[in-house]
Amino acid sequence: MAELIVTGLRKAYPTPSGPLTILDGVDLQLGQSENLAVVGPSGCGKSTFLQIIGTLDQPTAGEVRLGGVNPFALANRELAAFRNHRIGFIFQEHHLLPQLTALENVLLPVLAEQAVDAAAMDRGRQLLDQVGLGARSGHRPAELSGGERQRVAVARALIREPLLLLADEPTGSLDEQNARSIGELLLEVQSRAGAMLICVTHSPTLAGMFQIRRQLRAGKFVN
Ligand code: ADP
Ligand code: MG
Repeated sequence: MAELIVTGLRKAYPTPSGPLTILDGVDLQLGQSENLAVVGPSGCGKSTFLQIIGTLDQPTAGEVRLGGVNPFALANRELAAFRNHRIGFIFQEHHLLPQLTALENVLLPVLAEQAVDAAAMDRGRQLLDQVGLGARSGHRPAELSGGERQRVAVARALIREPLLLLADEPTGSLDEQNARSIGELLLEVQSRAGAMLICVTHSPTLAGMFQIRRQLRAGKFVN
């Protein structure tokens, strides 16, 4: 059964000359452990789509069900908890906090809700190992390379054992070699975690590594 079901998703922004339609009926079903690359020209609504699937923005119409839940029917508090537990985000820029170590950055989603206990610390360390940074857990972002920072961001996205990983141009700021290696890492951790992964990318090389590819054009998936 599909764990992510998107039906008739629409998004329009109000503008002085009337509503500007960005998403115009997007349908998608994704099963456990499936991975999908979304490609399409700049401005076609890829980030908007991810933001809505990630419950950071509301659709104008249509439905999203993730793990059997309609997140937009939840009250604000429940929605924040749902997002924190079920969804892991990786952005183009790593969004790590400069004053925190790699391990502390990985643990941030836990800290948002509770004190960090020994089990959480262990899991944070394991994840840093998994992304190849076991020896760098005490380093601050400024002491890491661009690729390494993005690896920390991948570990952070996994700390809550999300059902769905969302990546928005995760290799957009990296050179080709680092981009390929982050792509491989994303697919490896996704498969190991049994999570779904949706990755928005400009890169045909990165998109080519995914099981499923969809192209967004004029507000719809055209393939
Ligand atoms: P992509 O990620 O594919 O480059 P985006 O999803 O960021 O595209 O943006 C799609 C379109 O929606 C763009 O034309 C952008 O200008 C427009 N847009 C995004 N956010 C807003 C907003 N808050 N208000 C009005 N238009 C917006
Ligand atoms: Mg974008």
